[in-house]
Amino acid sequence: MSLFGTNGVRGIANEELTAEMALDLGKVIATLKPGKIAVACDTRISSQMLKCAVLAGIMSAGSDAIDLGVAPTPALQFYAKSKRVAGVIVTASHNPREYNGIKFVQENGAEFFREMDEISERIFMSKSFKIAKWNEVGSLLRDDCIELYVNAIVESVSLDKKYRIVVDCGNGAGCFTTPEILKRLDCEVYGINCNPDGRFPAREPEPVERSLNLLKKAVVDFKADLGVAHDGDADRAVFVNEKGEFVSEDAMLALIAKHYVEKHGGGIVVTPVSSSRCVEDAVKSVGGEVVYTAVGSPVVAKVMLEKNAVFGGEGNGGLIFPEHLLARDGGMSVAKVLQLLDETGKTLSELVSEIPRYYMIKGKVECRNKEKVLEELRKKFPDANHVDGVRIDFEKGWLLIRPSGTEPIARIYAEGKSKEKAEELYAEGVRVLKQILS
Ligand code: MG
Repeated sequence: MSLFGTNGVRGIANEELTAEMALDLGKVIATLKPGKIAVACDTRISSQMLKCAVLAGIMSAGSDAIDLGVAPTPALQFYAKSKRVAGVIVTASHNPREYNGIKFVQENGAEFFREMDEISERIFMSKSFKIAKWNEVGSLLRDDCIELYVNAIVESVSLDKKYRIVVDCGNGAGCFTTPEILKRLDCEVYGINCNPDGRFPAREPEPVERSLNLLKKAVVDFKADLGVAHDGDADRAVFVNEKGEFVSEDAMLALIAKHYVEKHGGGIVVTPVSSSRCVEDAVKSVGGEVVYTAVGSPVVAKVMLEKNAVFGGEGNGGLIFPEHLLARDGGMSVAKVLQLLDETGKTLSELVSEIPRYYMIKGKVECRNKEKVLEELRKKFPDANHVDGVRIDFEKGWLLIRPSGTEPIARIYAEGKSKEKAEELYAEGVRVLKQILS
């Protein structure tokens, strides 16, 4: 595939991702999933333009298009699941402001799995989509997914205590949902960047620690219980503890995973091979099991479905609560963290301190000929995990080497109990790769 990446189609708006392409992508989904199709978009400047083109494409292929306006990706996905309709979300998620993207959603609320994206791409490239006759063109309907989504989250959580929260929506689609969810959970809410603005004037759409200084400070100044920040489409949530310290996404993933396994008295947690060992440690400590997948949220969701997992997620703040939705959900993540504080009576920093700590190093090395390198790596480490590159687990750490399919590089991840161990493993990864390449 070349058009569809791990998360649908992405590119710079009006250059790499044009209104013409959006129109054809609307026809593609209506060819695959005829009937009613829901469409929503994030707050980006180019989003309404692309959304209108998708709606037109759907109607021209004879399906009815439901315009849901601006909404977080999980709100569109929850609507799709509730109404049993396919969906399209126009968003570039955490990418810089000039980007946009188009992602297809199944009637169960999950993103299209890889094989479905492959079929979509074939239809797009060959232009073999349906075109309706003049009198069979679809209708334009309007509906709201915000209330449905907010309600479902509020109803799934019950809190005894009152919490004080600082929310940084980064001017993205989370502005329409997370502050409202927290208010309805009777929290005292302080909002930062909670006005929708597709120029993203305050911070980059990706909620990385370096751009969350205001959030960290506000949590301390307001004596809040925690701070939360979303990416542009609010399917991810990252947290700041009550001391104003950023909590690593891997630690949050491990914390919620442990809690879910405990509640279920065991069960499977699904996460990509790039996730920290702290997730496996936490899950095993309460009698659960971790299943590793290739990197990318659609495959995590797919394996969760196959394995009937209790929980899953990625080490980037994307957490999946399967009883609610088979997709990453930033709004639900906040609600579940509050539920955890409420049930345990502990602060976020106390809870996180119970998660084992590791040091991770990520880097990349120039590497061509992905197939040959992979074959050599698999031969060299036959007992390693081969689901995405090669992950070799040792007692005190692990090493992952992933040759990229799209760039002439291989990514190396090394994690150890100590910084020295991580550095040692990373150096070993580079050595092995250089040896194969020489
Ligand atoms: Mg996102």
